[in-house]
Amino acid sequence: MKLDATDLRYITSDEFRVLTAVGFLTWRQVQSGELTTIFPQVEMGSKNHEVVPTILVAQISGLRNGGVNKNLGSLAKRNLVARVQNSKYDGYRLTYGGYDYLAMRALSKRDSMFSVGNQIGVGKESDIYIVADAEGHEMVLKLHRLGRISFRAIKEKRDYMGKRKSASWMYMSRLAAEKEWAFMKVLHEHGFPVPRPVDHARHTILMEFIDAYPLRQVADIPSPGKLYSDLMDLIVRFARAGLIHGDFNEFNILIRRESGEPVVIDFPQMVSTSHMNAEMYFNRDVQCIRKFFRKRFRYESRIYPRFSSTRSSSQGEDGEDFRLDVVVMASGFKQRDQQVLEEYMNAVQNESSEDDDDEEEEEEEEEGEEEGEEGEEEEGEEEEADEAHEEADEEEKGGDAPEAGE
Ligand code: ADP
Ligand code: MG
Repeated sequence: MKLDATDLRYITSDEFRVLTAVGFLTWRQVQSGELTTIFPQVEMGSKNHEVVPTILVAQISGLRNGGVNKNLGSLAKRNLVARVQNSKYDGYRLTYGGYDYLAMRALSKRDSMFSVGNQIGVGKESDIYIVADAEGHEMVLKLHRLGRISFRAIKEKRDYMGKRKSASWMYMSRLAAEKEWAFMKVLHEHGFPVPRPVDHARHTILMEFIDAYPLRQVADIPSPGKLYSDLMDLIVRFARAGLIHGDFNEFNILIRRESGEPVVIDFPQMVSTSHMNAEMYFNRDVQCIRKFFRKRFRYESRIYPRFSSTRSSSQGEDGEDFRLDVVVMASGFKQRDQQVLEEYMNAVQNESSEDDDDEEEEEEEEEGEEEGEEGEEEEGEEEEADEAHEEADEEEKGGDAPEAGE
């Protein structure tokens, strides 16, 4: 999807008011299920929670009806909204472009960003752009795109959302961004090697640009053993702080161009070590690295961390402050939102794993292989865990990201 920076400057103030009204109404609607609860006088002609009636847009934007129609028309021409019309109903829905626009406008109003450059990534569930502030300092803008590829999964699982929420792309994308923001902030403040979070609006996150390659692109390294143990230490360090990355793979580990040091990105799927399936997630992260090192670098180590050893000595010792899972929950990202997002992600994952049976077979093979090894490595692994633990006790770094909000 193309983002046009000039758009940020050349939208009229009336258009902006109308677009903001559409955004507000859509958000209220996907959040609470129905607009009728806040606007009981309006007959909602559509079951689609993403469509808002023109008449409400007029009410909210405070413009005359004719003005609203004209502005909605010009916004539709620029694909910021789309008209939805049938015999009973006349309304508009916000497009991804419109949502992007509102988010970027908020970021630029706060002087967090000024211009948009090239797209550097198209993830499964995000678009990544290089952007810059007024002084030309480069940053990364991540726009979450949940729901783009997975409407089939969502429709089937809709009941988990309950009556009040619709699994709209807008809602899920925003939750993912809020979660990622909350985690990135806390991790950065506690000295974990993650990009510095800069700002956050709606479904987007602005962060430090890391001059690096994804590990995926690294063909050869001088000492794979060093990187391997650094990455395992990092997994342990996360766990000692109460967290599991949950998608710790070669795409989400960046290797700094200059120093070769790893930086971890992509946090919407992080879970607490208190999660019911924590051990499974932990092992999956560990196995992901083992498998990659074996395939890519022909490097295999008998030493790898166990979930149990990250638990035993750490709990209680470090004080409450060190349970980052607790810190994140206290920061405002709610347990309920966490659950909604998690169920969505599980639904998506189940769907995509149906498509690649080959990979699954391979993983099953590996798991069998590992069980045989278990028990022998306990000692080495404990040592490794303790090293990582010390590191994690380092002085906390103060965060300098501005507060979120719109
Ligand atoms: P997704 O959730 O879609 O996987 P990621 O956050 O993993 O999104 O980002 C996708 C890609 O974009 C990464 O693999 C990386 O190449 C690039 N990228 C993301 N964040 C940064 C950053 N802060 N600095 C440099 N490159 C980044
Ligand atoms: Mg990723």
